[in-house]
This record gives sequence, C-alpha cells and structure tokens, in this order.
Amino acid sequence: MTVLVLLEPRCKLTDSNLTTVSAAARLARRLGVELHAVWPGKKVEDQLALLAGLGIRCLHSVEDGVLPQFSHEAWVPFLADLARFLETRLIVAPSSALGKAWCAALAARLGAELVQDCTALEAAGDGTPLVEKPLYAGKIVAALRLVDSPALVTLRPNTVPLERTGEETPDIQFHSIPASNGLCIIQDVVWFAAGTVELAEARVVVAGGRGLGGPENWPLLRDLCDVLGAALGASRAVVDAGWIDQAHQVGQTGKTVSPDLYIACGISGTIQHLAGMRRAGKVVAINKDPAAEIFRHCDYGIVGDLHEVVPALTRELKARRQPVA
Ligand SMILES: Cc1cc2nc3c(=O)[nH]c(=O)nc-3n(C[C@H](O)[C@H](O)[C@H](O)COP(=O)(O)OP(=O)(O)OC[C@H]3O[C@@H](n4cnc5c(N)ncnc54)[C@H](O)[C@@H]3O)c2cc1C
Repeated sequence: MTVLVLLEPRCKLTDSNLTTVSAAARLARRLGVELHAVWPGKKVEDQLALLAGLGIRCLHSVEDGVLPQFSHEAWVPFLADLARFLETRLIVAPSSALGKAWCAALAARLGAELVQDCTALEAAGDGTPLVEKPLYAGKIVAALRLVDSPALVTLRPNTVPLERTGEETPDIQFHSIPASNGLCIIQDVVWFAAGTVELAEARVVVAGGRGLGGPENWPLLRDLCDVLGAALGASRAVVDAGWIDQAHQVGQTGKTVSPDLYIACGISGTIQHLAGMRRAGKVVAINKDPAAEIFRHCDYGIVGDLHEVVPALTRELKARRQPVA
C-alpha cells in the first residue's frame, strides 16, 4: 500500500506542492506505508534538491518529452494505472487548477471518492484518512473520514506546515509510455500570474475593493505591496467593474488565500469575500465606514479614508526599513 502525491509541473515547485508532500508524508508515516510522488514535468533530476528530506521513497516520471506536460489524455490513464499498481490508499494533490482537474478525472476513472479543497489531512485513531473541508463559504468545517480505498484529496495552499526530516532524496523511477495518439495537442503553455508574488501562496496580501475609487488608484496598493513583499488581491466588485484582472480576485468565486497577514482596503466584508480570506493569520481592515462588516472579522481596524491611510502606512513602513545610521 502507498500514499501517492501528484506534483505540479511548474518552473519551480511551489510551497503548496511541498507542504502537500509534508501532509501526505505525515499520513503515510501514520499508516506505516511508503510515500511515492509523481513528477509530470521535464527534468525530474532538477526537482530532487527541493524534495529532499520530505519523506518521498520514490519519484515517478516518464522519459523527458514523451508525454506533454498538461495533457489530461496522456497523464490520467498513466496515473490511474500507477495508482492501481502501487495499491494506493490515498492520492493527494495541491488544490490548484491542475491538481483539482486531474484529481476529478482520476476519481472518475478509478471510481474513487474525492474531496477537493481540504484544509487539513490527518489519520483517525483506526488509521482511516480524515480531512477537513470548509463548506457554505467557510461558515462550517466538515470533518470527513475517507473510508473507501483509494480516495483522493486536494489540499489548499498554506494550510499545513512544511516539515523536512533530513536530506535524503527520493529514488527516481522512469516509466516508458507510448506517446498518446489523443485528440488534444498542447502547443504552448503560457504562465500567467497575478503579479510577482503568487496570490494563493503569498505570506502577505494587500487587497483592494470598491473603496479604492477607480483603477487609477491601484498604485497606492501596489506601493504598499512592494514595501511588504505582498501579493495584490481584489474583491469581486472591482474585478466585475473591470478595474483589475480576475487572477487577483479573492473569495468564494475567486482564490482562497491563507497568508500570515491580510490587509483589506476599502472592502466591505461580505460573506463571499470572507470565504476566500478567513484563514488569514492576522487581518487588518481599512474602511471609512465604522459600521462596515469587515471590522467584525479583523484583528486591527483602521477607520479612515484609504487614500490617506495607505500612503501614510507605506511611508512609515519604508522609513522603518531605512538602516539606522
Ligand atoms: C455567488 C456570488 C459569489 C461572489 N463571489 C465573490 C468573491 O469571490 N469575492 C468577492 O470579493 N465578492 C464576491 N461576491 C460579491 C460580494 O457579494 C460583494 O458584492 C463584493 O465582495 C463587494 O466588494 P467590495 O467590498 O469591494 O465593495 P462594496 O461592498 O461596495 O464595499 C466597498 C467598501 O469600501 C468602503 N469605502 C468606500 N470609500 C472608501 C475610502 N475612500 N476609504 C476606505 N473605505 C472606503 C465602503 O465603506 C465599503 O465598505 C460574490 C457574490 C455572489 C452573489
């Protein structure tokens, strides 16, 4: 029996891939089974240093270039066969667009149960995998036992800590698979990110809402992002208004973020927005309406006009970063 992790073929493995491995490794230890992982990209050797000490026994890959990196048609049958061959108890992937899509297709192919978007992965007293999943825009958290085998789980970024226990690297096993004669041909992959810091993985997020007044005012928040090394988030109202791209949207129909610090600027705090950021460590809200709902969900509230508060905050943070002579 094994636990199997699906990694994302990114230029560099992100924190959410590595923490997914950590969570799966803890479970594998509890079950007393081996942890295996699949690298569905090229140059598997380049990933070994990042994956050292995470408890992976074997890293599975196919010869470079044989399977196109993002092709469902090519990868899903291979993953299903591998999971069967390894007698996999649980398949775990990051809760990213690719992780969720592959797990859905794999669950259908394996006839297995799947829980997407989980925030915790543990083992119950009898060794049954146990997950937590927020429901109803995060109003309740369901604890679910995954009784059937195999089962599949996707985990949200930043919800479990990264644990390295040594420096040992996984063995690599190459698989040779005939090239797919499928209908889908991937010609090119263009990476699109909502800024230099990946929103879903950021430790600090500065987010703007309708209180910003218009798209011409984003530089106010971008300056604050620069000084904090933060990613820029947005409410759906400003995305719908065309002030910023949807890649920045936080909330029920946008991205879920779990940073250490979330600064909400001119955001009222509707349930749909809170659904995307309620797992932030500390929340700072800046709003000119003292009765705004967001103040009921923050650790620090600043009642004021963001056009005055945000530049003052940025100036102060910059000043504090100046080396003392
Ligand atoms: C099915 C569904 C899914 C949804 N999904 C999402 C989602 O994923 N994410 C999301 O965000 N929303 C989502 N929404 C929309 C959500 O209900 C709200 O409409 C939206 O979040 C409001 O955005 P906002 O807070 O920017 O705007 P508003 O609610 O208009 O709030 C603006 C705030 O700015 C304050 N303000 C105004 N001027 C200033 C100033 N100068 N300085 C400081 N404060 C100021 C105001 O007091 C107000 O509190 C969804 C809605 C539905 C129905």
